[in-house]
Amino acid sequence: MTVKPQSKGRCQSCDALMVKGQMTRHLARCAYPEKGATVRVIQLRAANGPYWIDLDVKADAQLGELDEFLRAIWLECCGHLSAFTIGATEYSVMPEDDPWGPRNRQRSMEITAGKALPKEGATFVYEYDFGSTTELKLKVGAALQAPKRSDAVRLLARNEPPALECEACDAPAAFACGFCSHLEDTGLVCAAHVDDHHCGEEGMLPAVNSPRMGVCAYTGEVE
Ligand SMILES: [Zn+2]
Ligand SMILES: [Zn+2]
Ligand SMILES: [Zn+2]
Ligand SMILES: [Zn+2]
Repeated sequence: MTVKPQSKGRCQSCDALMVKGQMTRHLARCAYPEKGATVRVIQLRAANGPYWIDLDVKADAQLGELDEFLRAIWLECCGHLSAFTIGATEYSVMPEDDPWGPRNRQRSMEITAGKALPKEGATFVYEYDFGSTTELKLKVGAALQAPKRSDAVRLLARNEPPALECEACDAPAAFACGFCSHLEDTGLVCAAHVDDHHCGEEGMLPAVNSPRMGVCAYTGEVE
């Protein structure tokens, strides 16, 4: 068995680069100075494969604001539905009666993070788009006092873009084919090999630092 090297990420406060396993301890020192006015936040790590971000959300912010943040940085392509599943409760954009009978208890995202999120160390799931679903695993970190701010969510750290190679040469991939699955690193091509890919040029999407790369019409982060 080969041990995969831990993926590295960058602290958004000081730009330091380190492996994922060291980031939480670093952030405790770097992103939470003990001076000035503060606001109560909850730390979260969201992850999918090699993609991960550390963030903190204000305890009194709504789940809907966390949803907006995740969409903007990683997911939004055509305004699909999304939901958080926390314990037995599903918080969705549009709660509705489930035609398949009682499953999860459904609620709206109009609830504060402080109320809805489980305790430190617990995990929960977020799904974007119930057709070509992108699923994120979220882990709850510490509840802390962060410097006061207006934004509901603050990005603390983010993975460095994974090195993706073209399937036909050693060059970095510039495009991901939307018809191929990227689980086996197929359908990744450099600009010179777009024409050679077996699905054709039609489904090509930009290779971006997101777990939704190459899915549906995803083209990258919302500015
Ligand atoms: Zn830092
Ligand atoms: Zn879409
Ligand atoms: Zn190539
Ligand atoms: Zn393809």
